Amino acid sequence: MREPDTRERRKHLVKALQREGLLRTQRITDAFMKVPREAFVPSYLSGHAYIDRPLPIGKGQTISAPHMVAIMCEELMLEPGLKVLEIGTGSGYHAAVVSRAILPGGRITTVEVVRELAERAKKALASISAHNVEVVIGDGSVGYPNNAPYDRIYYTCAAPGVPDTVMDQLDEGGILLSVEGPAHSTQRLIRYERGSGGEITKTPLTYCVFVPLVGKMGY
Ligand code: SAH
Repeated sequence: MREPDTRERRKHLVKALQREGLLRTQRITDAFMKVPREAFVPSYLSGHAYIDRPLPIGKGQTISAPHMVAIMCEELMLEPGLKVLEIGTGSGYHAAVVSRAILPGGRITTVEVVRELAERAKKALASISAHNVEVVIGDGSVGYPNNAPYDRIYYTCAAPGVPDTVMDQLDEGGILLSVEGPAHSTQRLIRYERGSGGEITKTPLTYCVFVPLVGKMGY
């Protein structure tokens, strides 16, 4: 059962992220307020859902910390109607926040390699009526060509780099966020933008630590 004060605790977290300058736009702030993070963490940890930390979700994986979700959502410049690809569903929380920020009209495809996590994420997403999210079970290290091209692509796990096969799924004017660096060490969030002429610009952003990408193009 959801505790009665969860909305208040969510508001508290959102205010803290605003004060830190991480939540900057109304659209992403509203999306954060609409997603109950406790629906995406194991029930024994629901009391910790509004602490700004990653939490274990089983299978050696974690739900991302809210500040990292905020940073990534703002960098993605989410707008209504966008087509988005997420590589690494995990709990489904990050996808849920993105799904709210791209309404109306937007759709997100999220790929998860661990079947059990994907199934759990599907249930959590259904429980909050996130109907514009498609959870795909498979190796997202090669992207998901079936729904390409995408306006936005982002990794929620650390990759050795972005292979052409994924970059080619990004539409003109699109933004791709990757996490690059050694597995189990400090990595860097990187933003790529594809210009209208197809050219790619690369901007390194903040340092971070994510679980490693596995699969064909992973570690
Ligand atoms: N953003 C998520 C956290 C994801 S953790 C959240 O909010 O909960 C990263 C996830 O990437 C893990 O669940 C891991 O299993 C998954 N992953 C790792 N390699 C993958 C691959 N090749 N394809 C799809 N998912 C992958």
